[in-house]
Amino acid sequence: MSTKHTMQDFETHVFPTWCPGCGDFGIWTALKEALVELNIPPHKLVVVFGIGCSGNQANFVRAYGFHGLHGRALPVAEGISLANHGITTIVVGGDGDGYGEGMAHFIHTIRANPNITYLVHDNQVYGLTKGQTSPTTAKGMKTPSTPLGATDEPVNPMALAIATGCGFVARGFAGDTDHLKKLIIAGVRHRGFSLIDVLQPCVTFNHLNTYNWFYQRLVKLEDNKHDSSDRQAAWLQTQRGIDHVPIGIFYQEEKAALQDGFAMLAEKPLVKQSADKRNLGPLLKSMQ
Ligand code: SF4
Ligand code: MG
Repeated sequence: MSTKHTMQDFETHVFPTWCPGCGDFGIWTALKEALVELNIPPHKLVVVFGIGCSGNQANFVRAYGFHGLHGRALPVAEGISLANHGITTIVVGGDGDGYGEGMAHFIHTIRANPNITYLVHDNQVYGLTKGQTSPTTAKGMKTPSTPLGATDEPVNPMALAIATGCGFVARGFAGDTDHLKKLIIAGVRHRGFSLIDVLQPCVTFNHLNTYNWFYQRLVKLEDNKHDSSDRQAAWLQTQRGIDHVPIGIFYQEEKAALQDGFAMLAEKPLVKQSADKRNLGPLLKSMQ
């Protein structure tokens, strides 16, 4: 008999230390609501965290957890999901962590297509280190590291993911937890790598991309009859101007996940296989 889980099952005794009003609270709530609806028990869930304000969530989510090096959450999660595909693997990181230090891992993890869900808290700054320019900061925005205005073009994670062949590309908003919850559920159910970029107001350091700024610009793809199986249509949505910020599922395509390419994983997860099969001794010896 399966137990029906509650939001409290995914909480620890530690209450978040985020600034009051931070968008991270909305994402934390949506994640817990999605886990309840998916009815994933905490012992069947691993969350790998990047470095940043979002990564502090490692203390607030009750599940197996791993708090990795800056930008390195994805390869750790890929290894975990290959070692034990019997549990759900979710990665929580930020725009600086994932699209800056971890950019190469982002691209190559999309190419590998492991069965994991990547939840990016995209606040367009490095929040934890006091608001410096991040890869998604708008050109011209003044921050402590670019006091005359950011000079670089911002990374467009949605366009990059679609161009790299990602099978699930979605964007949510931290101020709409019900919508975001549905995206997380769809992302976890998708087989293969799923990207959910979440627009997340940093109320302390980003005074441009505020809740109101987003409310005036957000457009729900599902309200505009967007066909998420149409790659060209999805691409066009990634190219919309600054006054239209689409949220929802941009693109979804069924394809084999990384785990599907290993015959030995079809029987059962690697961790449940006999020690003989996991013994690397003979392999290493053959290379001597
Ligand atoms: Fe949130 Fe910004 Fe405060 Fe970090 S610095 S907790 S992102 S509001
Ligand atoms: Mg950030």
